[in-house]
Amino acid sequence: MKWNKIKIEKLECLINKNKRPDEIIKELGVTKKALSLKMNRLGLKIKYKNVIKCVNCGNEFENYSNINSKFCSNSCSAKHTNKNRKLTDETKQKIKNSLMGFFNNKPKKEKPIKKM
Ligand SMILES: [Zn+2]
Repeated sequence: MKWNKIKIEKLECLINKNKRPDEIIKELGVTKKALSLKMNRLGLKIKYKNVIKCVNCGNEFENYSNINSKFCSNSCSAKHTNKNRKLTDETKQKIKNSLMGFFNNKPKKEKPIKKM
């Protein structure tokens, strides 16, 4: 795939129309990599901005690299995942036990083997 003058003009035109990157890719029939490389070389930037509301904290943020992103940051993504993780009673007990062990801080003694 070669970039010619017509294609570059079309690219500039699409950018000025605030087109999304995936729309430009479709329109020009180029790969995402080829597009970003060419845009870097020409010093062009996508004008389109996708405003997304973070699923975790509700902050609105702009995103034009990953359209499927639902979170403003990695930490929000992690928090949301943790929130949805269901704790079984067994898991809760295990956490409780390990916390108790931590606060008691007693070295574990090996049980002596009982002789019959
Ligand atoms: Zn967030």
